[in-house]
Amino acid sequence: MEYLYDQYQRKHDYLRLSITDRCNLRCVYCMPKGGMTFFPRDQVLSQDEIIQLVKNFVALGITKVRLTGGEPLVRRDVVEIVRRIHEIPEIEDISMTTNGLYLSRKAHELREAGLDRLNISLDTFKPEVYKQITRGGNIRQVQMGIAAAAKEGFKQIKLNVVLIKGQNDDEVLDFIRYTKDHNVNVRFIEFMPIGNSEEAWSSEFVSLANVFDQCKAAGIDYRPIRLPGNGPSDNYQVPGYQGSFGLIHPISGRFCENCNRLRITADGYIKACLYWNEEINVRETIGDFEKFRQVIQQALDNKPLNHEMALSDTDQIVHEAPTWRHMSQIGG
Ligand code: SAM
Ligand code: SF4
Repeated sequence: MEYLYDQYQRKHDYLRLSITDRCNLRCVYCMPKGGMTFFPRDQVLSQDEIIQLVKNFVALGITKVRLTGGEPLVRRDVVEIVRRIHEIPEIEDISMTTNGLYLSRKAHELREAGLDRLNISLDTFKPEVYKQITRGGNIRQVQMGIAAAAKEGFKQIKLNVVLIKGQNDDEVLDFIRYTKDHNVNVRFIEFMPIGNSEEAWSSEFVSLANVFDQCKAAGIDYRPIRLPGNGPSDNYQVPGYQGSFGLIHPISGRFCENCNRLRITADGYIKACLYWNEEINVRETIGDFEKFRQVIQQALDNKPLNHEMALSDTDQIVHEAPTWRHMSQIGG
């Protein structure tokens, strides 16, 4: 079996595949205020292209696939995509990151088709704040989606919470208390300056050290735990609670050192690093495995050791320009 390594000997076995850039929300940290111009449909990978792409990656040692977007559940053939990826014997794990709005309708079919794990984005418990952060979303729909998913026996359900100063950073303890009776892993994520002006970002960024500060101030005891396959997050549990919480700190902490991720955008470009602009069109090579392999290795050879995100211009060892894409065009 072949494996994919970058020049820092990081083995890559995890593919994050954006299956659409479209979305039914417009979250403030992800999309610009004026909305997005979505790719024309023929610019987005077809179902057959996606499946062949995954098969090519499997021949290069990929065993885990995450479907993301935009919002993956707005794609009509999403269940079929999951089913066909599940049929590839070498794939050990299929997960999805979703805003959860359509989950109450789709959770059952997705689980049946072979989806193993779900990450559901929910940044607040307050309907008004949800509406504000998502620019119009109805929190009830996500709550119904989470409840539906909880009945389906997914191997793991995580809640993704991006902390934003002045909007939801007062809800950290509510999220941790939620894990008392809910078997979910709440993942606090640092707000990343992707597609946002540095200025807007820096005034809203909250370091995840804040989570520990709030726990300590409230006398909440928490212990480090290990969760299988948890990438860059550090995980903790309050003794006696069913669920757990994790911290993903791309800005203030460890994020890149064991990076095993490759990203494919909905329009068929490989991004070896979330932040940097370098990307190569793989769509053109899907039917030619040798060319495909070369393109993937080229992307890996140029993968930086660290994203160097949010360093000041003078400190930043300039690799090249940060990505032109908004997060919804990468997938997170
Ligand atoms: N639409 C799906 C969703 O919201 O879960 C999947 C795509 S979304 C781009 C994937 C993840 O990226 C979400 O959990 C979202 O909260 C996160 N995200 C988007 N923009 C971000 C930013 N600027 N900083 C940190 N996380 C971000
Ligand atoms: Fe859509 Fe997800 Fe981005 Fe929100 S975070 S706008 S739900 S892609």
